[in-house]
Amino acid sequence: MNTTASPATVFDIQRIRADFPLLSRTVHGKPLVYFDNANTSQKPLPVIEAMNEHYREHNANVSRAVHQLGEEATAAYEGARDKLARFINAPSRNELVLTSGTTQATNLVAYSYALPRLQPGDAILTTVMEHHANIVPWQLVAQRSGATVKAAPIDQRGELILEQYVAMLTPEVKLACVTQVSNVLGTVNPVREIARECRKRGIALLVDGSQAVPHRPVDVQALGCDFYALTGHKMLGPTGTGALWARREHLDAMPPFFGGGEMIREVRFDGTSFAEAPHKFEAGTPNIAGFVGLSAAIDYYQSVGFEAIHAWEQQLLAYATERLREIPGLRIIGEAAEKEPVISFLIDGTQATDLATLLDLQGVAVRSGHHCAHPLMQFFGVPSTLRASLAFYNTREEVDAFIVALLKVRKLLM
Ligand code: PMP
Repeated sequence: MNTTASPATVFDIQRIRADFPLLSRTVHGKPLVYFDNANTSQKPLPVIEAMNEHYREHNANVSRAVHQLGEEATAAYEGARDKLARFINAPSRNELVLTSGTTQATNLVAYSYALPRLQPGDAILTTVMEHHANIVPWQLVAQRSGATVKAAPIDQRGELILEQYVAMLTPEVKLACVTQVSNVLGTVNPVREIARECRKRGIALLVDGSQAVPHRPVDVQALGCDFYALTGHKMLGPTGTGALWARREHLDAMPPFFGGGEMIREVRFDGTSFAEAPHKFEAGTPNIAGFVGLSAAIDYYQSVGFEAIHAWEQQLLAYATERLREIPGLRIIGEAAEKEPVISFLIDGTQATDLATLLDLQGVAVRSGHHCAHPLMQFFGVPSTLRASLAFYNTREEVDAFIVALLKVRKLLM
């Protein structure tokens, strides 16, 4: 059995894989190697079953009903908020707005926090390595307010140039943003240091945690940021789930963004009053079953343990990187000192999309393209990369199969 022993945990990879039914399917007649985890993760049985059970046994709408089912659905949905709050060590469950994902979370901050504060000449600071979800919402509100969006630079290794980020925290910056982990490069950014510098200057900091939460324990209080956005489907949960954590003082000062049911105290034609945060940001019927699934995903992470996950993923990352480096003409994009298991690369004389298409025929799922990070592609002067992104349920044997397939398809294209 393929296990790695550490004093605290024994990581039983075969038992873990047995929890993910999709991992044992074939694609084009070949055993699946799923290396597109940064795009979306696969879901373990407890997540699938929890959602199933919700619809079979407990389905009702939240908050409005006084009947038993309504209470059960509300308890399950609000229970997910409690779990997520503990998962990222939020000081209070009421600081956690449940959203459809990171994109809704960053847009909420853009329209409800940033836009009312932005004056012509102000700026929002982001970085060159961000996902479009941490760029475009800022551009939209900047256009409306006469503000600008500035991007802090990175170096050729794919590391943020911290001194330059800090130097760009000038008085006109009303919001600073950074991803904790890059979805293309795997780079882990020095968020604590950035948060410290932002606080010294009274600038609020938003951290995009989409690619961090699947890999490492997150403590928003220790990070010291003001906003933390995450998405559920990359962390074993269903699509259409996510959250925004924000400091209470910000949530209290922010006007609602979406209006409708669930977010009001009283509606009158001569003036509507709103519910307290977080409910004032959760108009309409939420993705109840989705959050039931996300709760189960959090339980699953906790049962495996991030210590074991980290150790296994870092071994896989090192092994995959070493094996890829053996391939002639292969260039890895993103060689930061601290990385999560995401490897972007190119092979001389081939197109990333051709490679990905042929790899699929070998049963290997990787992503090719710009990864919703155009400015990063522009920085590296490439239209796209091939990206292998790993999860704790992947194995060295899968890395070997991926390398064999890659060598084969490379030969076909050269
Ligand atoms: N930020 C990062 C770093 C991401 O990788 C992604 C998803 N690719 C997002 C934001 C957007 O997440 P979602 O589409 O789930 O809202």
